[in-house]
Amino acid sequence: MLALQGGVREHAAAFADLGEHVVEVRRPADLQGLAGLVIPGGESTTLSLLLGSSGLDGPLTEVLQSGLPTFGTCAGMILLATDVLDGRPDQLSFGVIDLTIRRNGYGRQAASFEGEVLVPALGDVPLPAVFIRAPVVESSGPDVEVLATLRGEGGAPDRPVICRQGPVLVAAFHPELTADRRLQRLFVEMTKEERR
Ligand code: GLN
Repeated sequence: MLALQGGVREHAAAFADLGEHVVEVRRPADLQGLAGLVIPGGESTTLSLLLGSSGLDGPLTEVLQSGLPTFGTCAGMILLATDVLDGRPDQLSFGVIDLTIRRNGYGRQAASFEGEVLVPALGDVPLPAVFIRAPVVESSGPDVEVLATLRGEGGAPDRPVICRQGPVLVAAFHPELTADRRLQRLFVEMTKEERR
């Protein structure tokens, strides 16, 4: 779990609920021996600065590009994407999932909201989803699998909100803030697939 900023405690608790051992990553040495990495939500520009000052940016880019299973939510999703709109020009992009993402793209009125999303891969019961100044997926590349879409309201287009490309899973919302653990369980399964 990247533990520089943002919803670290809630994410760690969610994985602990599933019986997973959680390591907090703050320095390059903490990257040793991980089965997977979670990048929590927070503020992508701040995370980007802290990744630089902690010296994690280079080593983390390497482990991500070598295929470490990674789960990014909200700001974490922004950092993992190939293209970021309305970001700071110098903000870090790991570029391991082929998405064009607009920061804070749901607009001012709908900046934070709660909803439910249907995730066919997780069954018939919709997943509760809390969106907080969430990023919008403007477009996704051919290798990206869209696992859930949020229906646009009032003429707004539908938007992907959970996506996967190989070992990289991202969600635009905050799964750690609700009690449903199916998305975390899916990520744990991904880390096991990778080890097999
Ligand atoms: N708007 C934030 C950003 O740009 C993301 C918000 C969040 O992670 N809840 O990083």
